[in-house]
Parts: sequence; C-alpha cells; structure tokens
Amino acid sequence: MSTFALPQAQAWILATAAAIEANAAHLSELDAAIGDGDHGANMTRGMAAVVKKLEAAPPADLAALFKSVGMTLLSSVGGASGPLYGGFFLEMAKQVAGKTQYDSAALAALLDAGLGDIRRRGKAEPGDKTMVDALIPAIATLAAEAQLSLATAQAAQAARDAATATAPLLARKGRASYLGERSIGHQDPGANSVALLFAALAEACA
Ligand code: ADP
Ligand code: MG
Repeated sequence: MSTFALPQAQAWILATAAAIEANAAHLSELDAAIGDGDHGANMTRGMAAVVKKLEAAPPADLAALFKSVGMTLLSSVGGASGPLYGGFFLEMAKQVAGKTQYDSAALAALLDAGLGDIRRRGKAEPGDKTMVDALIPAIATLAAEAQLSLATAQAAQAARDAATATAPLLARKGRASYLGERSIGHQDPGANSVALLFAALAEACA
C-alpha cells in the first residue's frame, strides 16, 4: 500500500475496534493496577459506538470519518481517555481540509496534529506515563520511513515498545498519578491502547 486514503482509514478504524475488543480484558487489568480498571470497557464501548455509527452513516471523506469517530468517542467513552482520543480524531478532521491521499510523512503530520490536541487538553509531558509516551515515538517512526506499509509496521512496533517502556515511569498525570511511587512497575493502559491503534493502522496499510 503506497498511500493512506478513505478505504485505509475505514479499515484502520474497524481494525482498531476489533483489536480493542480482543484486548479489553488486558487493558482493564492494566488499569486495575494503577487506575480504576475501566480502560478496556471504556474503549470497547466507545469503539463499538463508532462502528455502529459508521455503518449507519458511511462517511463520504476523511474529514467526515474522523469527525464521526471523534464525536462518538467524546460522547460515549466515560473517563479521561474519551475526550483525549475524541479530541485527537476531531483535530485530525480539521486538518484534513480536502486532502484525500497521504504518504507516510503526511500521515505522520496529521497524527501529530491530533497528538497536539491531546497534549493541549491533558497537559502531559513526555515521560509522564500516559498515552503521549507511545504516540510520540510511533509518529516519529512513521515519519522516518517513506514506504507506507513498512512505516506503519515500524510505527506499530515503536508504539508497542514504548508502551512496555512506560512500566518503570512514575505517573504524573491522570488517575495513576494519585498512586505516586506505587505507579512504578506497571505499564500505562492508555499507552497500550495507542499500541493497538498503531497495530491496527499497520494492518490497514499492509
Ligand atoms: P480514567 O483514568 O478516567 O479511568 P481511562 O481509564 O479510560 O480513564 O484512561 C486512562 C488513560 O488515559 C491513562 O492510562 C493515560 O494513558 C490516559 N491519560 C489520563 N490522563 C491523561 C492526560 N492528562 N494526558 C494524557 N493522557 C492521559
Ligand atoms: Mg480508568
């Protein structure tokens, strides 16, 4: 696959929903260790609502697709991750502005705009043990390789590695930060859902 366009984006969202559902118990277990144990349920509910809405009203272009995903996540996911992932997709919807084809560098720039919204809303810095810690290296890795299927596969691996690497960090944002030192030794749930998002992107662009 050489470009990312509406069919790949649709496949990405469907693959994300499937990956989240298949890994819901694991995401909630991770959240039970340093949060309130609902990240898997939150994300599964959100992505199921997203799929339902896309099936009922197939979007005509990338902007409409990302807007639908963002609005649905915002309204259906309770918890911190809803507005963060919702804002991520809504910001991408805004940035699309009629563009229909993305190479890996342009896709990375689009995702980076979404990440910018997450950082403005959540105020997390790199190393705070949040989803931001997986998004940053995944997007940087995507931008560094021109061939889209290879770039997305490498980005997925970078996100997976970064999620694993959140374990020794001290949580400084979100619910896990209430635990202080006791957050050390556990992977961040949101960084793990980001790893699934990028695994799904690689699948859609394979
Ligand atoms: P809640 O914490 O409200 O129960 P979730 O369990 O669905 O919500 O999501 C928790 C995840 O949200 C965390 O693992 C972390 O990755 C992410 N998160 C929480 N607060 C922030 C923040 N301020 N900035 C970025 N990500 C955050
Ligand atoms: Mg939670």
